[in-house]
Amino acid sequence: MKRYIYLTILLATTVLLTMGRDVPRVFLNPGHGGHDSNDRPTPFYLWTVGDTVTYYESDSNLATAQGLKKNLEDKGYEVRITREGNTSDDDLDLYEVVALAANSGADLFLSVHSNATGTPARLNYTLSLYRGWNGEPAVEGSDSIARAMKKHLQANTTTVWTHSPKDWGDWSFYKNWGYKTGLGVLRYNKLPGMLCEGSFFDYVPERCRKLNDDFCRLEGWNQSLAIDEYFGRAKKGKTGVVAGLVRHQCERTDTTYKAFDKDLLQPANRLTVTLLDKRGRTVGQYRIDNLNNGFFWFPNLQPGQYQVVVQGRESEPKPVTVRANQSTYCNFEIPAP
Ligand SMILES: [Zn+2]
Repeated sequence: MKRYIYLTILLATTVLLTMGRDVPRVFLNPGHGGHDSNDRPTPFYLWTVGDTVTYYESDSNLATAQGLKKNLEDKGYEVRITREGNTSDDDLDLYEVVALAANSGADLFLSVHSNATGTPARLNYTLSLYRGWNGEPAVEGSDSIARAMKKHLQANTTTVWTHSPKDWGDWSFYKNWGYKTGLGVLRYNKLPGMLCEGSFFDYVPERCRKLNDDFCRLEGWNQSLAIDEYFGRAKKGKTGVVAGLVRHQCERTDTTYKAFDKDLLQPANRLTVTLLDKRGRTVGQYRIDNLNNGFFWFPNLQPGQYQVVVQGRESEPKPVTVRANQSTYCNFEIPAP
């Protein structure tokens, strides 16, 4: 019953707001939901805290999509989202998602997901999927947003990428599923749009990052940059973001899983990162969590010169330049703990 009330409210709001608008409208579908088996739960042991934490794809998809929704609304878009929580009630089936999208009057459809190989191989890259053959989208414009999305997501250097980003038509990508079958959520969708697999959660260092909602919100922010580019609105954004990782100059203490490149270093836990303006005044502070990711960020910044410093670790302040509607990355390697 609750689900029908939710659907009715969503539909009624949509119809009311369709009248007389002149800004782009985006329809968001954070994938999965309800913390059940199709959420791809992945328990793992966190070595530094002696605690058990379970990753659910539905949680990181929601944090990403909610971050994106807020960014888009701040930039003047209208946004619809298929769920605001993570219960079985708001986990709509694919037909409901497609029907809501069709009735929403949206100009763009985005389904937000995170990837896994389904094999022992460990990889990390952004995969953009749209309906159609490679280079021949079923709905015009879907390949453009897919290209912009992979570019902006994989520009993020607070992670380690193992391969170049990819964009595919889903008929080409899932050839074995049958002629013009492709992804269910795109199958009956008439809107320009795509499904975004931001990164791979079965790559353990990435899963540690995705357990931090702010890392997911950074993905959402970068998705907003891709959407701005698609709608020709990149110059309208007023604020920028600084984000980074703090790692120690020593190997990871746990070596039971695969890690690549800088992910071989031990990420910092529970340190404070401070953002200073050019006169040295504190603008913001971020406490790094204890989930072995070393991630920090400062969103909603006015363009200009700043400095970033890791507290109490003798790191030289790093100068950074914030530009409107861009991400600035600033990673640290500090002495071993
Ligand atoms: Zn998924």
